Amino acid sequence: MLLEGKKAVVTGGTRGIGFAVVETFLKNGASVALFGSRQETVDKALAKLKAENPDWDVMGLAPDLTDYAAVEAAMAKVTEAFGRIDILVNNAGISAREPLYQYDPAAFKNIMDLNVTAVFNGCRAVAPIMKAQGGGAIINTSSMVSIYGQPSGVGYPTSKFAVNGLTRSLARELGRDNIRVNAVAPGYIETDMTAAMPEAAQQAMCSMIPAARPGSPEDVARAVAFLVSDDASYITGQVLAVDGGMAM
Ligand code: NAD
Repeated sequence: MLLEGKKAVVTGGTRGIGFAVVETFLKNGASVALFGSRQETVDKALAKLKAENPDWDVMGLAPDLTDYAAVEAAMAKVTEAFGRIDILVNNAGISAREPLYQYDPAAFKNIMDLNVTAVFNGCRAVAPIMKAQGGGAIINTSSMVSIYGQPSGVGYPTSKFAVNGLTRSLARELGRDNIRVNAVAPGYIETDMTAAMPEAAQQAMCSMIPAARPGSPEDVARAVAFLVSDDASYITGQVLAVDGGMAM
């Protein structure tokens, strides 16, 4: 199996793209610790996975990802349980679409806290663990809007441009420690995030997809599984579009 014996952490693993990543990793032989925002939703996700396959090695925690000390403590718990961490997927993220004239500065800070600072926190906490064990692979979740921006809701594309910068910079810094750092840039993927968009905006976006269909969380999860696998051992610093050709 593609990820046999690998130990992984996936943030925002309770639903949407993150849940599909967790499921795909488990199907491919990895042990997974999923992080969610609340213990209740974490427990629900764990129950769903255990019902699917009781033999899967999966655990769940709910650290505040914006609090470095909490993330570091959660990574220590995972290391204690699994013995190592080979893979980190920084997937948790939020979006907002308010025009600048109505944009609440507090909402801008919230989006940067989760979409950027939490990604830094995850990388900062896991890199020493990976270095000590001889290497690892990190995936950050960007977006197609990190390529061309978006006409409303400036915080979200700003945060994803930052994710790309963080990814490329850490790929340069951590390569010598055998830690690969890549990002995926999903296009229009059918999750709660896109379901929250106005119907007209959903239709407009779907009409621009060269592949002529919206993406599924599994479309993204399979790309992530490849990037963290040993098959991608010479790939680092990339932002891989998984968008049906939308942003090319
Ligand atoms: P979603 O809303 O379905 O899931 C978001 C996940 O993030 C959930 O697991 C949720 O628990 C977690 N999360 C939200 N706030 C959190 C918090 N404060 N602390 C911890 N976890 C929190 O969204 P999704 O569509 O699955 O998005 C996942 C990632 O993919 C995000 O980073 C998003 O920006 C990115 N993305 C999604 C799309 C898309 O079309 N759906 C496109 C491009 C990028």
